[in-house]
Amino acid sequence: MNAIEMNKVTFRYDNGIEALKDITLTIPIGVKVALLGPNGAGKSTLLHHLNGLKVPNEGTISILGNMVTKKNAHFIREQVGLVFQDPDDQVFSGTVWDDVAFGPRNLHMSEEDINEMCTVALGNVGMLEYKDRAPYHLSYGQKKRVAIAGILAMRPDIVILDEPMAFLDPAGQDEIAGLLQGLHYMGKTILLSTHDVNFAASWADMVVLLKDGKILAVGDNQLLADEK
Ligand code: ADP
Ligand code: ADP
Repeated sequence: MNAIEMNKVTFRYDNGIEALKDITLTIPIGVKVALLGPNGAGKSTLLHHLNGLKVPNEGTISILGNMVTKKNAHFIREQVGLVFQDPDDQVFSGTVWDDVAFGPRNLHMSEEDINEMCTVALGNVGMLEYKDRAPYHLSYGQKKRVAIAGILAMRPDIVILDEPMAFLDPAGQDEIAGLLQGLHYMGKTILLSTHDVNFAASWADMVVLLKDGKILAVGDNQLLADEK
């Protein structure tokens, strides 16, 4: 069984733009994958397919052996946590705590379980002491960490991050890098998009190069040796 299997996936936006063209990609469980490509390559579109947010026009996607369909969208969202590029798309509650509790509450977990999951998730991202703050007043990097905590509170096996390093200063980038390492030690499969070739080369087990909606190359991080 693999974490993710995309088989001949094609996706068109309503305006006719074909953002993904015949994508076939297999990602084993537990690997760290970096998805690279220029703006407009289709990175966000691809990532949004992996938790059912977007559905292919053609082709199929399996997550941990389960075909993604409308019927099991709920199951897929529990397995796959998607962290958006812009935390303002994800972080909107009155307090940090409510924000992280949003997902678990939606699953109708007991108050006790919710407390535990949120405490652990906020601890994992180093934001527990901010739990009563309004996300609105946090820095961009802190919001990003709260968005990640909101995903972790759902305990997904697969974590997808759209440009997790973008718009962060070096200290903020280091925090996210440490966080990603922690997720790896927890055994999660991680797939992220990035423009940072050096980071991808040092972090990733597997590298996917995307351009014009097509996969140019898949390999280990040696693939990036020429790009550096
Ligand atoms: P990337 O994340 O690599 O920058 P995107 O997945 O955002 O690429 O975009 C892939 C292609 O799809 C681009 O040509 C982009 O302009 C187009 N696109 C993205 N979002 C939309 C949308 N909502 N409607 C129409 N076209 C879109
Ligand atoms: P990203 O950095 O994820 O590639 P973009 O800057 O491409 O983001 O897109 C920002 C927003 O604009 C997204 O919501 C995307 O869906 C939308 N978008 C991008 N390209 C188009 C397009 N050609 N037509 C309509 N919406 C688009």
